[in-house]
Order: sequence, then structure tokens, then C-alpha cells
Amino acid sequence: MRIGVPREIKDNEYRVGLTPSSVAELVQHGHAVLVEKGAGLGAGFDDAAYELNGALLVDGPASVFEGADIIVKVKEPLAAERRQLRRGQTIFTYLHLAPDLELTQDLLRSGANCIGYETVTSSRGGLPLLTPMSEMAGRLAPQIGAHFLEKSAGGRGVLLAGAPGVPPAEVAILGAGVVGSAATTIALGMGASVIVIDRDPEALRRLEARSRGAARTVFSTRTVIAEIVKRADLLICAVLLPGARAPKLISNGMVATMKPGAVIVDVAIDQGGCCESSRATSHSNPTFLFHDVLHYCVPNMPGVVPRTASFALNNATLPFVLAIADKGWRRALREDADLRAGLQISDGAIVSQAVAQAHGAAC
Ligand code: NAD
Repeated sequence: MRIGVPREIKDNEYRVGLTPSSVAELVQHGHAVLVEKGAGLGAGFDDAAYELNGALLVDGPASVFEGADIIVKVKEPLAAERRQLRRGQTIFTYLHLAPDLELTQDLLRSGANCIGYETVTSSRGGLPLLTPMSEMAGRLAPQIGAHFLEKSAGGRGVLLAGAPGVPPAEVAILGAGVVGSAATTIALGMGASVIVIDRDPEALRRLEARSRGAARTVFSTRTVIAEIVKRADLLICAVLLPGARAPKLISNGMVATMKPGAVIVDVAIDQGGCCESSRATSHSNPTFLFHDVLHYCVPNMPGVVPRTASFALNNATLPFVLAIADKGWRRALREDADLRAGLQISDGAIVSQAVAQAHGAAC
């Protein structure tokens, strides 16, 4: 099988689909791996490292897309990349189709088989290919929120840890899953006062035990959310309905009740975001103001820590990449229901129920 790794072209996206050691594994299994020159540079992997591990270095994305049976990427294919996909080709990457009709329509037209990391499941529960990036985005969220709470960054001038005689900042975290748990640990470590909201009592129980009671937990209702949001200095949104659009739990009216200079980090923006007011931003221009509340809505947060993120992502994806390459995508999916859950578009049709529900008649 020929596996292709193009350089990521999304704004400030420095992660890479395969690290040099993943390339070596594929080569050992008898596959050819085409890597676009410079694809790993942002993550600290130079072309020589790929060559040493058996990759075939090629100039530009066209040679990768033309030559490969399977494309392995990080982020969803952008328009220029979508035009190069072809019928019968397999693409394995994050897709996040539910909030993006144009992306979905282009992928349908391409005829490619599109397997999204974010919906691959595990027999032990959870979403094993989303988890590593959720852990990282969760760890980043309080750090980013703390930065934007600084006056010079546009925030209300509040330090997460407070000061002797001055209470710490109030951090509200919506969602007690992977992002929410990681964000709780870091926010507590930074000295903030943390409250976490979820509609799953079991998730709240786990989080409370993990934080040894340091984080307060609250069952999610509209009234509770409205009250907590009003008091928050930093609101971290981390709710997920797998494969589907994120529920809009924070209305514009709720944002209007927040303190001027408060910060929202809407981590769930890759699935459309939890706030009515959220729209995707980029690392180059990460924030905007709405009702005097600073919104940070970057859909590829781990893209700025690409070395850690590329290793963490490859640790999770490599066994699946090997299975698809060794067996071919049809047999690999037939034999593994967890990998099959990742198939979202195939042969010009939507396979994922959640994506079909999101776009319905539009496709
Ligand atoms: P998860 O499934 O582990 O957790 C989601 C939580 O949301 C669950 O505990 C669930 O019970 C809760 N939830 C669902 N509906 C709710 C509701 N109505 N009220 C309260 N809680 C509710 O998901 P995760 O891995 O933590 O991911 C969270 C989001 O972060 C996803 O959209 C994911 O794609 C996104 N993410 C974004 C980035 C980024 O760079 N922006 C990176 C990684 C993950």
C-alpha cells in the first residue's frame, strides 16, 4: 500500500500525520510512505529523519495526493486538499463534519472513503483517537484562559490564583469528560476556584474523586448554567455529543450577563461550539469580543504544541493506520467495529448517522 503524508496547511497547524518512527513501522510492514518535504518541520522532524526511517520524500502536496492509496493527516482537508482527493482513495484524519456543510459536500463529491479520528471507538469505552488531543486541549485551556484574562491581552485583569487576601478567579467548566477533567486538574493546579457542570452524574462523580473534592461539581440544567456563567471569570466549554453538532448551551443572553472582560474558551468549537456567540477563530487571530466577553474559539488548539501533540496522536492512530494499510480499508473496517465507527463518508454517501442528521436534506 502507498501511504501519503501531506504538510498540514491550516493556520498555525504544525502537527504531522505520521512521525518518522511511525513511518518506520509502516515500511517494516512492506508499505511505501510518501512524505511531502517539510511536512514534519514544525513538529521538529526534519526531512532527513523521515528519509532515515524509509520515507520517500516528494515535492509539494500534488505528488502525495496523486501517489497515495491512503492519506494520513491531522486536520480536516481544506478546500485545496479536497480538490485533490479521488474516488477509491482513503483519508484518515480528524473530520468534524457535523458543523461544516461545505466540507461534507466536497468530500461526498470526491468519492473518497473518509474515516474520522474523532468517532473511532474503543471496546473499553470512549473515543481513543480524540482522547489524546482532548487531554492536551484541556490542559491548554486554563493556560490560554489565564493569558487572555490579563489586562494587556484584553481580559478583566484577574490572576487565576488570586493573591493573599484576594480570592482566586472563578473557573467554570462545562463538560466533565476528557477535556473537562484535564482542564480541572490544570486550573486547580494554577490556584483557581473550579466548578464543573455535566449532565452525566457518573462523569461528575469521577471528576470529584479525581480532584479529591477540590473541584465543585453541579448537575447541568439551564438554570444552573445561567447562574454559574454569570459569576465566571473564565468559562471553558467542553461538551460533546459524539459526531454531532455541539449543543448551544450558552445563549447570547447568558453571555450578556457575564462580567466585562471575562473569557470564554470554547474548546468544543470543532463541533460548532457550545455558545450561540461562538465562531471559529485561528491561532493568528484567536479572539473576538461579544458583549464585552473575550471569546477564544480555535478549533486546533494542540496545533501550537505540535511536537507533544504529534507523538500523542501517533501513539493512538498508528495501530489503526497499520490495520488499514495491511488489510485494505474494507477488510480492516469489516473486522473492527471500533474502526468502522470512524467511517463517515464512503463512495459518495454519508455513513455516519450524526452527520446525516446534521446536514439532512442539504446533501
Ligand atoms: P467527552 O465525550 O470526553 O466529554 C463530553 C462531556 O460532555 C461528557 O461528559 C458529557 O456527559 C457532557 N455533556 C453532553 N451533553 C451535555 C449537556 N447538555 N450538559 C452538560 N454536559 C454535557 O468529550 P471531550 O473529549 O472532552 O471533547 C469535548 C470537545 O472538545 C469536543 O467537541 C472535542 O472535539 C473538542 N476538542 C477540541 C479541541 C480543539 O483544539 N478545539 C481539541 C480536542 C477536543
